[in-house]
Amino acid sequence: MSDKSSRKADLWQRKYYESLDELEQKEKQWEELESLLRLLASRLTLLSDASDEQLEKKLDKLRSNLRYEDNALKFRPLINDVSAAIAKADAEIKTRSPAHEFESANTLNILLDELNVPATLQRQERHLRKRIARAKSEKDIPELVKDMAELLGLSMEVLVEKKCEEANKAAQTETEKHPSEPVPPAPTGKPQVEKPGFLKKLFSSTADEKDSVADAPSAEAPAQAEKESPRPDKAEPHDTDMDVGQEVNDGVASEISAQDISYAAGILIELLEQLDLPHDLCVEAALIRQRLQPCYEQEKLAQGLEATAALVAEAHDRIFNEKKELEAFLQQLTERLQEIDTDLQQTVRLQQLSLTGSREVNAAVEEEVRGIEQSVEKAADLATLQTDVQARVIIIRDHMDKFLQAELLRDRQSTDISEHLKKELSAAEDEIDTLRKQLEAERAQSMQDALTGLYNRKAYDQYIHDELARFKRYGSPFVLGVWDVDLFKSVNDQYGHVAGDKVLKVIASVIAENTRETDIAARYGGEEFAVIMPETNIEAAYPSLDKLRGIIQSCAFHFRGKRVEITASCGMTEARKDDTPESIFQRADSGLYKAKENGRNRCEKV
Ligand code: GH3
Ligand code: MG
Ligand code: MG
Repeated sequence: MSDKSSRKADLWQRKYYESLDELEQKEKQWEELESLLRLLASRLTLLSDASDEQLEKKLDKLRSNLRYEDNALKFRPLINDVSAAIAKADAEIKTRSPAHEFESANTLNILLDELNVPATLQRQERHLRKRIARAKSEKDIPELVKDMAELLGLSMEVLVEKKCEEANKAAQTETEKHPSEPVPPAPTGKPQVEKPGFLKKLFSSTADEKDSVADAPSAEAPAQAEKESPRPDKAEPHDTDMDVGQEVNDGVASEISAQDISYAAGILIELLEQLDLPHDLCVEAALIRQRLQPCYEQEKLAQGLEATAALVAEAHDRIFNEKKELEAFLQQLTERLQEIDTDLQQTVRLQQLSLTGSREVNAAVEEEVRGIEQSVEKAADLATLQTDVQARVIIIRDHMDKFLQAELLRDRQSTDISEHLKKELSAAEDEIDTLRKQLEAERAQSMQDALTGLYNRKAYDQYIHDELARFKRYGSPFVLGVWDVDLFKSVNDQYGHVAGDKVLKVIASVIAENTRETDIAARYGGEEFAVIMPETNIEAAYPSLDKLRGIIQSCAFHFRGKRVEITASCGMTEARKDDTPESIFQRADSGLYKAKENGRNRCEKV
């Protein structure tokens, strides 16, 4: 194989290995997402009303991250957190009411679940639970019931004591008492729908709270009236125990409200919007989203989750198959290279044989010639000399014949090998070429947003990085414009997500048509677009972006025969010396925020 071909093959082999790594990473992301979705779906059937604030916070964070991240990898730590919390919640639910073969043992477990054991008695509770779990027959039950009654009595004592103590304290500090803790501010990126605690129901866990209050003073007995409104009490210090009891008491019987379900469906819809799927699966995702709009029933939500999990599984399968194909190709390429190598080794061997053969012939001829010389010196008569020389000449000819025959054979073998080598090489080159084209096409596709055909977030990240590097090296100015469709949520709400998608497609094509060839237009995520304008300063960029805003506004969108005006706002900024991809985006985004603040359908420079 020529040096050039071998270098080429090396280069492409390396590229395919890189690509394989990338696919492996993607595969992992999809796997994680899939298992999370499956967990979510299965948790729907295990409802209870206990709460896990930590988990809920994590889920809220995940939700807000889903809006801004194009890449499942980036929220992997959160997914891990959430998965761990779900697993913990699962484990807790199992320990709360482990199924037992004796009906009476089960009843005792349920009683314990229902009993609001104060923090100070939780050790006894755990001990009793263990003994229930170890019970072998109905004979063990009376003893356990006795202990249960004792625990109940102790709990009552502690609770009554606490109630008296609190009553006294309340009387003393009546005037200074704060009626309730201030409501903590909502975390950023929170959904606009009021958080109804659905996730608390979905991912119930009492363990964290129990642990966290293990040293807290004992709580008061749960009263029916309080049970019905447990949330406000939560803000009261030292009331956490009571909450635990209330939530356990509410138990599996609690129903999720339509608002809760709609909230969860909203999260799922956003997840579906953010998935980086191949084109045909995007269509499937749009259908699932459409089915979830609106979604007020638990069953519908569960179906949506299942469908999403199946979709993610499909995406995962594709990545897996793609990876397998690449692996097969690499295997094939390696085999071909091995064959080429064998051919080359054979050629070398033939050459060596030829060299050895010719040396042997040489030596044999030399020996015979020396023999002839000696015969000449020693010959007594001409006749003997003649016979002697003739015999040696025959031997020499014999050696020569054998060598020539062997050479002829080697020559034929060598021609065959070089023919084979040529074929192998050209086949390898063809294969590499086809796969190179395929890989390039796939790379191009991976930089493209499936819905709009514009560059995607990944491509944007690369371009903004390159453009900033160019700006820092050559000082060529550029402008970044960040667009966001105005009040787009209401478009989805009123006309459905499929209509919303169509709007995004039209806006994307308007952006593509009304920017220069050299501009880079990308879908940043959701209903947000970014335009990088190389060799442009802010003064030149403003009129052209504002013109684009006007064109978007004048697009004729019709829904159910009615014209609907859709507008978009833009924030823009020029690159600065010390900019990073994050800082320039943040500045443009603050312009966008200003545009929204100032009434939308505007462009603002920063
Ligand atoms: P604002 O003017 O302040 O930007 O209001 P908004 O309603 O546009 O903003 P908000 O961020 O509340 O809502 C954005 C909506 O865009 C919510 C989300 O469901 C929707 N969305 C994001 N990506 C897609 C998508 O790919 N297709 C569709 N149909 N909707 C999307
Ligand atoms: Mg937005
Ligand atoms: Mg918007």
